[in-house]
Amino acid sequence: MESNFITGQRALGRLLSDVKTGAVSHAYILEGPKGIGKRTAAEIFARALHCTGEEKPCGRCLACRRHLARTHPDVFFIEPEENGNIKIDAVRAAAEELYMRPRLSDRKILIIDGADGLVEPAQNALLKTFEEPPDYGTVVLLSENIQNLLPTIRSRGVKLLMEPFTGDKIRAFVEKKYPHMRDKSSFVAGYSGGVVGRAIDICEDEEFFGLRESLIDAVSRLTGGKDSILAAADAVCGGRKKLDAEHWRTCLDILLSWLGDAAVCKQGGRIVNTDHGDSLRAFAAKITAAGAAAAVDTVTETARGLNPSMKYDLWITNMFIKCWRDLHGYSSRS
Ligand SMILES: [Zn+2]
Repeated sequence: MESNFITGQRALGRLLSDVKTGAVSHAYILEGPKGIGKRTAAEIFARALHCTGEEKPCGRCLACRRHLARTHPDVFFIEPEENGNIKIDAVRAAAEELYMRPRLSDRKILIIDGADGLVEPAQNALLKTFEEPPDYGTVVLLSENIQNLLPTIRSRGVKLLMEPFTGDKIRAFVEKKYPHMRDKSSFVAGYSGGVVGRAIDICEDEEFFGLRESLIDAVSRLTGGKDSILAAADAVCGGRKKLDAEHWRTCLDILLSWLGDAAVCKQGGRIVNTDHGDSLRAFAAKITAAGAAAAVDTVTETARGLNPSMKYDLWITNMFIKCWRDLHGYSSRS
């Protein structure tokens, strides 16, 4: 289903048209947020390059089947290490492989996933391959932000931007794939920012909506007495003394979308939390636009300062003390 979905991407359309016309470049850079489908697009492109069928990629020829079984010897990958980095050794080994003639086709494809993690010496090593590629070689870099790549790398590749999908398209996708989520589909479409992988993550995360309900409830009470501060901190930490990065990232996104929506309610515009419109407006009615904006700043600053060595529950409590002050108009900011 994802591959049907991704065919709407203009970037992929360009790659497939290059295959069709035979004007395939030696280097492409696909840019877009995590979950937008860069890897899927690159794999479809690689399959199309090797496909012997009519409509490329056909999915049925031997080459396509080898790709799908991940046994085609002429496409290979560099994956980032656990910390996200790609070291020079990985690039050197891949370059060596690229310079060996293709075994089953007339083109060899190297896909570098998480190219943002290429350390500088690795990028310099890659540059040599970019400058003098074998005539049968194509390198595809997948990047969340091409500013992470050296200008010399950026300038030598064909840059293609993977664009977010429209809310309507994500909503239709969610309703088809997850029929039980029909009443949440508008929210998921807005919250995902048009990134299909993010929409899938939310729909398949069994704990997401429960966590969201408890956070929204806790934050909405911050307009009341000070006892609401500890309750809000508890809703985020849930007994955690140490930073659990993934859990915190989810909490952060939920908090920012709620507080951001409160600010939108004050100024007009489209909200994300459409399934909680009434409670959102009730919350927004109790605060000022400046208070909502200050609370967004507080949460954003806390996110920037967090690191695993900190006393997580204290940090979060402090964040909600500041938020409480922001929402009550005691903020020191102008
Ligand atoms: Zn095929």
